[in-house]
Amino acid sequence: MALSVVDLYVKILAKTNCKDCGFPTCIAFAGMVVSEKLPLKNCPHIDPDLLAPAQEELNEQYAQGKWLKKDMAAEALSLAKEKAASMALEDIARRIGAGPGTHDGPLKGIDHIVLPYFNQTLLISKDRVTDQTGGDLTRNEQTVVYIHMASGGNTSPTGNMKSFKEFPNTVSKIVSMRDLVETPLKKAFSSRRQAFEIACKKAGGTDVKDRYESLDLAFQFRIFPKIFITLLFWDESEGFEANVKLLFDETILDHLDIEATLFLSEHLCKLLKDSVT
Ligand code: SF4
Repeated sequence: MALSVVDLYVKILAKTNCKDCGFPTCIAFAGMVVSEKLPLKNCPHIDPDLLAPAQEELNEQYAQGKWLKKDMAAEALSLAKEKAASMALEDIARRIGAGPGTHDGPLKGIDHIVLPYFNQTLLISKDRVTDQTGGDLTRNEQTVVYIHMASGGNTSPTGNMKSFKEFPNTVSKIVSMRDLVETPLKKAFSSRRQAFEIACKKAGGTDVKDRYESLDLAFQFRIFPKIFITLLFWDESEGFEANVKLLFDETILDHLDIEATLFLSEHLCKLLKDSVT
């Protein structure tokens, strides 16, 4: 019989809330055991006669996925992959601006396409995304690539750049964009204009300052062939704080969803910060 959080609490645990397991209460510990596979033996106060059979019971319910916390990132990747897999690679390549696969390299002999991504080139088959050395991308990066493949529309960038909040359904993500991207960049590069410029160039940015007046820096990044992000930077001066804003081509949501757009912005932020540390 499966063991729920309440079953564990009532039938197995000592209910003393002693915190020896590292959790503030027995019920909190039970929740982690049931939903995140925390070993039951982490509580040192369980009757030894109950421990083994209870752990066995838990292992069975883990195998069935019962009450386990869902791995949302894995589900997102699997869904995006499934959607992209139902489309012809040549058609995807035409829509997103990818090129035909190479005859050698890590995906030799496997139907694939090649796609520029920041400063590198990705090799993409229906079920694998690698860099040119055969290294796998992170799960989040793979998800973004498959979302792009599945949703990449036929539109081309217009060069008309808009701020994040001008796009629909971004209200819940505006704070994330500020806290995870713009503020960290502002803090990292305030009074470091030259370092910021070097970082932008290293990350493959093109100087577009001539398109914007009264800015200290403006760089455009081609993330994928049809995905462009422009970074604007005002350095601190005369009592005004530094400021960073990202702009996105008005067609970006034809090719990605809001989550993926935010992820790519965070990735750009990380690249820029890492390049000067
Ligand atoms: S160590 Fe055991 S008894 Fe103590 S709080 Fe954790 S689960 Fe409860």
